[in-house]
Amino acid sequence: MAEKHIDKTVKKSLKDTNINFVRILWCDNANIIRGKAVHVGMLSHYFEHGVGISAGQQGIPVMYDAVVPETGLGPVGEIRLVPDWSSLTPLPYSPGHARVMGNMALAGEPWALCPRSFLLRMIEAAQSEGLEIQGAFENEFYLLRKIPEGVVPTDSTVFASTQGMDFNREVIDAIADALIAQNIPVEQYYPESGPGQHEISVRYADALLCADRQIVFRETVRAIAHRHNLTASFLPKIFPETAGNGCHIHMSLWRDGQNLLPDPQGVCGLSQIAIAFIGGILYHLPALMALTTPSVNSYRRLQPHSWSGAFRCWGLDNREAAVRVPSDPVSNPTHFEFKTVDASANPYLALGAVIAAGLDGVKQGLQPGDPIALDPGHLPIEERNLKGIDRLPANLGDAIVHLKQDTTLLNTLNPQLSQAFLAVRQAEWEAMKDWELAEEVKLLLERY
Ligand code: GLU
Ligand code: MG
Repeated sequence: MAEKHIDKTVKKSLKDTNINFVRILWCDNANIIRGKAVHVGMLSHYFEHGVGISAGQQGIPVMYDAVVPETGLGPVGEIRLVPDWSSLTPLPYSPGHARVMGNMALAGEPWALCPRSFLLRMIEAAQSEGLEIQGAFENEFYLLRKIPEGVVPTDSTVFASTQGMDFNREVIDAIADALIAQNIPVEQYYPESGPGQHEISVRYADALLCADRQIVFRETVRAIAHRHNLTASFLPKIFPETAGNGCHIHMSLWRDGQNLLPDPQGVCGLSQIAIAFIGGILYHLPALMALTTPSVNSYRRLQPHSWSGAFRCWGLDNREAAVRVPSDPVSNPTHFEFKTVDASANPYLALGAVIAAGLDGVKQGLQPGDPIALDPGHLPIEERNLKGIDRLPANLGDAIVHLKQDTTLLNTLNPQLSQAFLAVRQAEWEAMKDWELAEEVKLLLERY
């Protein structure tokens, strides 16, 4: 009966907004956003059980549409992509189309390899520790103009340049309008440091909505840019000499509607539980990076002195640390920022794995060491070692090796998801490890 009711409400809202197609979306292990669209006239056939997709979809690397055999997946096997109707949204940039997030199901149960179900499991794991996670992905992206030889940035302005705002106002306003039309509150905007690079931050939300918003954000920015005859790219490093694209995760921990982070007695004004959560992230970081900076290209961005989180440490207002604790003008810190993340990461897997690492920190009381109040890149190696600040993995191959040894993360992912995810990463590493940046950009610019 309840289903019939939802069915009716959904149908009415689709009719009111003149929708022809509903896209059911998923995000694969290479972080490509994909969808199958159902025509509204046929929706009742797909309403409850969604559409079928090949299980092999979760075994595809970023280079081509073919399954990596080592994923354990192949041409045989079908799963259902079941709409989460609560996420239904008409697309302001594609009139007549709506989007709904899909959960992957096998025999009516969440499929072991479903990224969104993995995040849901991690949310439940946090709940069983009495914790609710709030967060937001903070994206940087380049706006590029197409020329016969390739692409060039839309401007040559610097960080927070008001000229940059003027040059790009139309497309930026259109992006903001489209995000707001999809119920995503826009917080701040500024041109970032790179020429043609921009940052738009959005309001935090509970973990599932936070990850869904990351999908919507990428979809929206790219589609609106396209409508303005531009290419938008979140690729971590596009130009060797200019800033990379980060996608920092901002996070806070809550219990009974109360933010657990601020504690006037604590180190940096943070509670012990927050410090242990950060301790867990830093403890697992070399392995976690296979999930949060998962592309071969990611490691070009993670360089010292680039504010990208290339060092395993934390600190108050320290933009070179993997975890920055932003000071608050009126209270103790209310959230932290994890910087070793980029938008080539599947947001469900990345956020879920960060939660898993943080929870491990809380359960084991892991300590992140002393907060660091200087640029680790300026320290001689011996001094860095004394302070326990590691340089993080320098390439995807190393991060894969770390993840293969991290049984905590592998077990939380579960054996099947771990196998498929690692095999996809490995295939990408082997295919691209010797590539020049220009080759990566050619393949990946529009994928991410
Ligand atoms: N572009 C930097 C990165 O790669 C971040 C700069 C900043 O916003 O702090 O993460
Ligand atoms: Mg930024």
